[in-house]
Amino acid sequence: MLKDVLTPEDCAACGFCCSFRRQSLNLTPYFAKETVGQISRLYPGACFKTLPNGAVTIDIDDKYHTDDSSEEALCPFNEVGCILPEDLKPFDCKLWPFRLMKSGDGLALALVPTCPAILKADPEKLKEVAQSVAKEAAEYAKTHPEIVIEYRDDYQIMFSDWA
Ligand code: SF4
Ligand code: SF4
Repeated sequence: MLKDVLTPEDCAACGFCCSFRRQSLNLTPYFAKETVGQISRLYPGACFKTLPNGAVTIDIDDKYHTDDSSEEALCPFNEVGCILPEDLKPFDCKLWPFRLMKSGDGLALALVPTCPAILKADPEKLKEVAQSVAKEAAEYAKTHPEIVIEYRDDYQIMFSDWA
């Protein structure tokens, strides 16, 4: 999906979406609960935590070494790129830089405003990409509703017409 709008060079020079500042820990990816056991067996050093909304995410709270708010902590599955096999990768990461969010009585597929490369992409192309993944995202959310985040007005809606 992303290869339609981003180049590998864009991401190689950035890596932003696989590292997190303390104040952006709310953006760590949610893992499908049924994959966590297998991931833990494959990567025993990785720690997970369950959030109040029931979502399971990486626990990197103890990975910061300073009090500097700009310090970044890497996702434990990033080793010059994601090491997780495709079937164990969080759906959030497959969907990035889109998030599924509540909008009115329905859902919207919205663009996260923090990807520097995507903001330079053609908006019409982005809408096409959003439309192409919308059905799969809505289906996934039926069994994994925790991936649907609360509405945020700083996220740009790219698709909302599932009718
Ligand atoms: S934030 Fe955007 S440009 Fe940076 S690594 Fe992620 S997808 Fe690539
Ligand atoms: S699971 Fe993989 S793609 Fe997702 S944040 Fe971690 S390293 Fe990046």
